[in-house]
Amino acid sequence: MNANLEHLVVLQAQDLELKRLRGELAEAPRRVAIAEAARGKAEFSLAAAKQALTKEEVLRRSQESDVADKRGKIARLRKQMDSATSATQINALEHEIKFSEESISKLEDEELASMERTERFETEKAVATDALEKTTAALEAERARAAEVTQRNNAAIKGIETERAALRAQIAATDAGERALSTYDRVSKAKGTGLSEAVDHKCSACQMMVRPQRWNDLTGREHDHEIFTCETCGRMLFWDPRRDAPGSWAAGERLATATHPKPLEPHA
Ligand SMILES: [Zn+2]
Repeated sequence: MNANLEHLVVLQAQDLELKRLRGELAEAPRRVAIAEAARGKAEFSLAAAKQALTKEEVLRRSQESDVADKRGKIARLRKQMDSATSATQINALEHEIKFSEESISKLEDEELASMERTERFETEKAVATDALEKTTAALEAERARAAEVTQRNNAAIKGIETERAALRAQIAATDAGERALSTYDRVSKAKGTGLSEAVDHKCSACQMMVRPQRWNDLTGREHDHEIFTCETCGRMLFWDPRRDAPGSWAAGERLATATHPKPLEPHA
């Protein structure tokens, strides 16, 4: 393979890895924010349930005190009945007693309804307490993960950046290399990748066919000084002769292995 192209294959693997590492770095605080929002929601639900419970307790105390007042009033009215002289007076007192008794019955119904609501809010409180515990633990885990990803990826990025700078300098050392590098930079800026592996007469990036003559040039030995581009997407094409070796290579495998430069053995 053309030496510049061989270097660019490694450069592309580095660039893709840098992109992945930076993507994870950007994603980490977003994941923490999502976990924070979930915990905030659980906290809000718990506070709302507690507030509703307090409100019902206050309401029931006031209902109970109202009932006690009305019972006292009935007792007083009954005493007045003992000293009442006219039928009109007795009628009026009886009417007032009946009215107070109805009020007590209504208050007791309301008290029962409040107790039912309390039961519901107690359930909501238990659910929210559980949710708060779980989201608190999830947030802690997400924060720990973010710290770990930040440290790990920053270190990895630093290492790759150093290798990448040296590799780019090495490629740019010749005129042909400099031209290839500038094509790579231009195409990868526009399309995300500047190189594409040619597999089975096709550009593996855009899936368009490579013309037979171009395929022969690409896979032959007479054109090692040239770099061919895909006529459809403009990416520089590379062809791995090891694909002719026994065993199969999945598309992109050459790129993946280029990330960890080591002697490659064709699959047996
Ligand atoms: Zn293409």
